[in-house]
Amino acid sequence: MTSTSASPVITGRPAPGTFDSLDPATGEVIGTYPVQDAEAVDAVVARARAAAGFWSPLPFAERGRRLITWAAVLTRRMGQLAELVHAETGKPHSDAQLEIVMAVEHITWAARHAAKVLGPRRAPVGLLMLHHAASVEYQPLGVVGVIGPWNYPVFTPVGSIAYALAAGNAVVFKPSEYTPGTGAWLVDTFAQVVPEQPVLQLVTGPGAAGQALCRAGVDKIAFTGSAATGKQVMHACADGLVPVVIEAGGKDALLVDADADIPAAADAAVWGGMVNAGQSCVGTERVYVHAQAYDAFLGEVTTRVVGLRAGPGQKIGPMTTPAQPGVVRAHIAAALARGATALVGGLDAVGERYVQPTVLLDVPEDCPAVTEETFGPTLTIAKVPDMDEAVRRANASPYGLGAAVFSRAHGTQLARRIRAGLVAVNSVTISLAGMPSLPWGGTGQSGFGRIHGPDGLREFTTAKAIARQRFTLPPRLTTFARTARADKAVATLTTLRHGRASTLPPRSHRR
Ligand code: NDP
Repeated sequence: MTSTSASPVITGRPAPGTFDSLDPATGEVIGTYPVQDAEAVDAVVARARAAAGFWSPLPFAERGRRLITWAAVLTRRMGQLAELVHAETGKPHSDAQLEIVMAVEHITWAARHAAKVLGPRRAPVGLLMLHHAASVEYQPLGVVGVIGPWNYPVFTPVGSIAYALAAGNAVVFKPSEYTPGTGAWLVDTFAQVVPEQPVLQLVTGPGAAGQALCRAGVDKIAFTGSAATGKQVMHACADGLVPVVIEAGGKDALLVDADADIPAAADAAVWGGMVNAGQSCVGTERVYVHAQAYDAFLGEVTTRVVGLRAGPGQKIGPMTTPAQPGVVRAHIAAALARGATALVGGLDAVGERYVQPTVLLDVPEDCPAVTEETFGPTLTIAKVPDMDEAVRRANASPYGLGAAVFSRAHGTQLARRIRAGLVAVNSVTISLAGMPSLPWGGTGQSGFGRIHGPDGLREFTTAKAIARQRFTLPPRLTTFARTARADKAVATLTTLRHGRASTLPPRSHRR
């Protein structure tokens, strides 16, 4: 690493073999990092393999102790880390602090729950194998590669890193080329609490470094980013049959029922859609409002959006990547060209670095503003005759990451009908990010696999079944010495147990 200093270093171009991390608000250079090629990435993974030999045999309690110490370092130095995240992404310092707080909760949860979720437990053996004792335990995979995005550069990768580490794996982390300093900060502080071996390492560079990580012999890749890149990750992993968890983008809908708390729903739509300049995987992008609530809802949204500004020192920061304003502009332009109207904002709202809040009405459902991830501080709002129509439109998306429902009487029933991995009732979807015990992930083009919670711990393990024969039981079945009498006894027993159609499933399967 050439420099991780937070003070700007103004240069013309980065030296060969390096790249710069820039402040998106000013274009200033924040740090310079190596572009690591496949050979360098292979070497990092080889070191990780050796480090796994140190880390995985440690008891859960010892790994947990180190992780909790790391969480304490993040907490004590939260201001410094938030400043770095602010510099690299442009998001307000207070938003950066919020994602760090959530990451700390996840590290602590993973540390405290790994033993209970993954440790050995007895398993019932069934009538046929009554003479055995069995157990299940979840063993670490070895080396996990984590590829992260820039939009939540602490919270998002930590959602994989902490759980993979708590499960006993070594981790190699490839942050986005827009946030390498944040990645380096996380790795450096972890090394302070685990100085013995490089259990958590960094690789830096553009997408090619991520490709190299997929092909470097890791035991799993945890990818968070766009669906398009997720497919490239899967291609790269296919050659080595490397398993992947894909946490991709979304097009989250927020549904407002006639009986909803309208001010609360409007507040959630505006914050959920515009926090982090709309650059959230579970950001609200589409809103479907029951006709009876529509006018009141628009009034409440307008009240909240007017006065909300993007700019230096404002609640909305710049677009983090240089290409994103162009995407947002294209979505707004296509919607307006097809007859949509702007309740607030519009084409003029899109500047070179900042995008002002924009709310679009009557957008045709096949416009990119409704079908594709806009990733800007924008909302589309549509009036629907009933909640069946709201659910139908919410589900008419290839994505299935998150959603939110506002209804006093039917929130949970509506939530069950929405095709998405994460649904908030009477709240924003992002609130689920602050609940470490819940699984996090999507369906369809939003990916598969789960991070966070017990599922997120098991995602970075392999299930190991161990059965020990305690005594021999006549009739012996698993031998060529099996007799015709034994066959008959088994057939009779099985018929008695399973031969009659039962009207009810076993009590344990009833809900
Ligand atoms: P990208 O898909 O562009 O990049 C994600 C990561 O993949 C980056 O580290 C990137 O490196 C790397 N990468 C790029 N190309 C390749 C490749 N061919 N092989 C391997 N790795 C590669 O996503 P963004 O960083 O732009 O993040 C935004 C996206 O992430 C949005 O779609 C958002 O919805 C999604 N997201 C999903 C979340 C979830 O929990 N489901 C959470 C947060 C974000 P580099 O940056 O250097 O190009």
